[in-house]
Amino acid sequence: MKGNKVSASIFLVIALLFSSISAYSFMAMQENEVIYEGPNKTEVRMLSDYNPSLKGTSGDTEVYVLTGDEPGGSLLVLGGTHANEPAGFLTALLMIENMKVDAGTMYIIPRANNSAFTHNDPTEGSPSHYNIGSRTFRFGSRATNPIDQWPDPDVYIHASSGQQLSGSETRNLNRAYPGRVKGTLTEKIALGIKNMIVEEDITMTVDLHEASPEYPVINATVSHEKSMMLASIAVINMELEGVPMGLEPSPMNLHGLTHRELGDYTDTYPLLMETANPSQGRLKGKTDANLVVEGIDPIYVQAYKADKLFVKFDEKGHPIEERVGRHLVGIYEFAKALSDLEPENQVRFSNLPNFEEITTNGLEPYLDRDN
Ligand SMILES: [Zn+2]
Repeated sequence: MKGNKVSASIFLVIALLFSSISAYSFMAMQENEVIYEGPNKTEVRMLSDYNPSLKGTSGDTEVYVLTGDEPGGSLLVLGGTHANEPAGFLTALLMIENMKVDAGTMYIIPRANNSAFTHNDPTEGSPSHYNIGSRTFRFGSRATNPIDQWPDPDVYIHASSGQQLSGSETRNLNRAYPGRVKGTLTEKIALGIKNMIVEEDITMTVDLHEASPEYPVINATVSHEKSMMLASIAVINMELEGVPMGLEPSPMNLHGLTHRELGDYTDTYPLLMETANPSQGRLKGKTDANLVVEGIDPIYVQAYKADKLFVKFDEKGHPIEERVGRHLVGIYEFAKALSDLEPENQVRFSNLPNFEEITTNGLEPYLDRDN
């Protein structure tokens, strides 16, 4: 009897210990990272301003509006559509905290799927956080938190097209466009973004992503047919600058994605960019914050040598500064092509590092808030 009480007490202590650890890591993912105002005049709106049903839900998210001195068009940058693709979130953050808009208006949503930042994928071995200098950021999940949207159906039927996908894709923001008034939380977020584009008459929308190095569309832009002219000019200029980028047409029969539905349902020019992130791949080795930030993985070096990848992969890997640098150059060149082709819709900005500066200096000098 005495032995039973002792072992029961030991089990109780162990259970309390594990529940405290999981409660702590759960709480640590509920708090949004601080985003600091940069040198530009910035207004912070909420996505629920465009879809009131998001108010009070974890799908509501900040929209940073940076207005330029000269008139022009507008450019929306979506970071964090997938919260396990940190280059998108960090590019949006770096822009808000550093850029100066000279003409037109920038709309920046750093956490497009805010709910997806509140949990991670422990079954993938994913870390919950990573650091850039003294700042800590969450490494979230590809999908909306099941706490906010559950259960998944066996089959996800995309409402406006009837397209059928696996049930877990119900929580994927980039399969939910154009969204629905009485839809799931994910569809309500998509609707908020679509409504904002329509209400604000946003000229161009760039959705920032990362993908595994074995994915065919990598270091590439996916373009709706109406954005193709702009994207082609931008991609040629990137090639001349030594940052080569592929260009893929948005498939007509693939539904729910920004580069398809925002082009079909609004007047914006939609584009989507992908960089190479080994922490998302199936071949990855140890998955931790170092892999997320440094992007170095010896298994991928072997895979590249065996001609199994769609992107060059050497011992230097694909560090976060290279991935953010690619996104920044892409956005800069898209905006430049738009400003040249449609001067009345110009969007011009400055005070951002170029590719060479960011890959040489890393992200820290642009995100450091201690001085
Ligand atoms: Zn993605």
